[in-house]
Amino acid sequence: MTATKQVIVIGAGIIGASIAWHLTKAGARVTVVADSAPGGIATPASFAWINASRGNPEPYFRLRSRAMAEWTRLAQDLPGLPLAWCGGLCWDMSASDMDAYIAEHSSWGYGIERVDRARVARIEPNLTELPDFALYVAEEGVAEPVAATRALLADAEGHGARLIASTVTALVKTGDRITGVDTSHGLMSADEVVIAAGVGSPDIAANAGVTLPIETPPGLIVHSRPYRKLLNGLVLAERLHMRQTAEGRIIAGSDFGGADPGMDADATARDLFAVLKASLRGGEELELDFHTLGYRPTPIDGFPIVGRAEGLGGLYIAVMHSGITLAPAVGLFSSREILDGDRDPLLAPYGLGRFAQ
Ligand SMILES: Cc1cc2nc3c(=O)[nH]c(=O)nc-3n(C[C@H](O)[C@H](O)[C@H](O)COP(=O)(O)OP(=O)(O)OC[C@H]3O[C@@H](n4cnc5c(N)ncnc54)[C@H](O)[C@@H]3O)c2cc1C
Repeated sequence: MTATKQVIVIGAGIIGASIAWHLTKAGARVTVVADSAPGGIATPASFAWINASRGNPEPYFRLRSRAMAEWTRLAQDLPGLPLAWCGGLCWDMSASDMDAYIAEHSSWGYGIERVDRARVARIEPNLTELPDFALYVAEEGVAEPVAATRALLADAEGHGARLIASTVTALVKTGDRITGVDTSHGLMSADEVVIAAGVGSPDIAANAGVTLPIETPPGLIVHSRPYRKLLNGLVLAERLHMRQTAEGRIIAGSDFGGADPGMDADATARDLFAVLKASLRGGEELELDFHTLGYRPTPIDGFPIVGRAEGLGGLYIAVMHSGITLAPAVGLFSSREILDGDRDPLLAPYGLGRFAQ
């Protein structure tokens, strides 16, 4: 490893923060450049469910499972990280889909159980309506996204990383290498530049002739004012996904990515909040504090883009949905690949080259 490699990480969301933290820990000299506050843009708007749940092929399940394990490792390295393995209870699909999900994921080793109505009531005693049965995964959890991101950045800073508030306007290219960035505060050079800029990534990459096929679907999440404890973990009911945050807010979307805001986001938020209140015993007194409207940085096939652009040295790209789940594994694997050239086999399907085919 080149211990003194200088790396610029563009982005101070959960992905940039995790990559910067892992690079710093491995001995690199890291500068994070971002035009948001530490915490990012999509990251503060996230539901922040950490899972290896349904609907994914096995290789992606394996990456997500590994990321869950890496969250535990990260929390050991950074005591106080706001991580909770609170469990996820779900019944937002048909009975046959639930059967297929439990059969497949059990065979892959996911700790998923079928629970009856009485058990659901014991897990979440404040639900007003109980399903006949649900699926429960005790090993799912949440990380409070902004606090976790800031903890990573603060610790990286404490170990020598620099944080610069600036907009990257261009990549600097020398021959077939990226050798720095141009910013609203001037030129900065580096051995490696990492684009971890969420929905801002395609514009930056385009500057070096690299196309990132990203969609940005919106998601609306309502946040109550902090309230006494009503929920123990994640509840993924039909059209209502909710959890209670570390500071006591109940947050909800109409799915984990948040509701589509429709034409009138305020009205959508009020309607969703009314459903949330009705779904919880003791929920009548909940007050809507605010809603967020986030845009998910989602590669068009739904899977992460993590790796180098073909034929271009000095540039590394990390853009994805499910960034809360994936951040610790992406940070670890990216730092190893950037510093040592070792690409983790779990990343094999997620290079940019797949879109060229
Ligand atoms: C509604 C919603 C619900 C979600 N739910 C979940 C979930 O339950 N579980 C899960 O795992 N994931 C979830 N996600 C996805 C997850 O939140 C994102 O994948 C993750 O936050 C992306 O983090 P990021 O660091 O890549 O991007 P961001 O947090 O958007 O950070 C991007 C950073 O890049 C900077 N930047 C951009 N352009 C420039 C530029 N030109 N110059 C300088 N800086 C720049 C920004 O300022 C910012 O600091 C959800 C997302 C949304 C929106």
